[in-house]
Amino acid sequence: MRISVKAPAKINLTLDVLAKRPDGYHEVEMVMTTVDLADRVDLTLREDGLITLDCSASFVPDDIRNHAYKAATLLKERYQVSQGVHVYIDKQIPVAAGLAGGSSDAAATLRGLNQLWGLQLTQDELAELGAQIGSDVPFCIYGGTALATGRGEKIEHLGAPAACWVILAKPPVGVSTADVYGQLRAAEIETHPPTGQMLRAISEQNFSLMCKSLGNVLETVTLDMQPQVRQIKDLMIASGADGVLMSGSGPTVFALVQKEAKVHRIYNALRGFVKDVFVVRMLGTQDGEMLA
Ligand code: ATP
Repeated sequence: MRISVKAPAKINLTLDVLAKRPDGYHEVEMVMTTVDLADRVDLTLREDGLITLDCSASFVPDDIRNHAYKAATLLKERYQVSQGVHVYIDKQIPVAAGLAGGSSDAAATLRGLNQLWGLQLTQDELAELGAQIGSDVPFCIYGGTALATGRGEKIEHLGAPAACWVILAKPPVGVSTADVYGQLRAAEIETHPPTGQMLRAISEQNFSLMCKSLGNVLETVTLDMQPQVRQIKDLMIASGADGVLMSGSGPTVFALVQKEAKVHRIYNALRGFVKDVFVVRMLGTQDGEMLA
């Protein structure tokens, strides 16, 4: 038996760091939304009880270092499942890009194995398990749009934002989330994103207020490490983007636009500059779809 599960990327509409906690994690406040750039995770039942994994991107680890492998192992051990699984990841989301590709693969593996192994766990139970793999995994279990707090694992569901186009551009460098957080001095952050205003923009489906409320406190850290991030942001703004922000710890930058003519202009400007450019929609908007 084999099932295929979609593992969509996320973007941060806001990312705020409130404090560094004694356990080493940062206390965050983030508005996140899923977009329709997705990996495909194929899960094939193995009667011999083994867990094996292959990924279309050869540089992604295929052992316990892979978040999807971790997810399968955790679920098998916790619920003493005798069956195994072969996981195949068709990688479409750029790696180490601030788009939560690995976390989304883990979440898709948990959702898919819940079906394949007949575990009948609730989404909340899967999210709780996912939090042991990574802070972004619980959000990826639900998808849609949400406010994430704590270390990112506490999820409050939000309504659908105003529909728009999202143009993603990733410079040809990877960024380690741990390095970026490591260089952040939480107590010295001068400008925090207006999270409350973003929540209002979403509930009112107010596109221009959403664009005005974008903010990410990690941007300055990554901009120092990767100057190309600023160049991409500047290019997007000069090409008429309504809102521009770096996602997560970067280096992917996204532009929000409503008019299709602007999409073409921004896409063409970026294509001369970076290879990885994607035009996507947010999932869970009026004309998007929700995760199954
Ligand atoms: P986040 O936004 O959650 O910080 P990211 O998008 O910045 O994540 P990922 O693409 O998840 O980063 O990759 C981060 C690291 O995780 C990579 O260095 C990679 O080797 C490792 N990794 C483990 N499992 C996966 C996976 N299934 N897909 C991609 N990377 C993975």
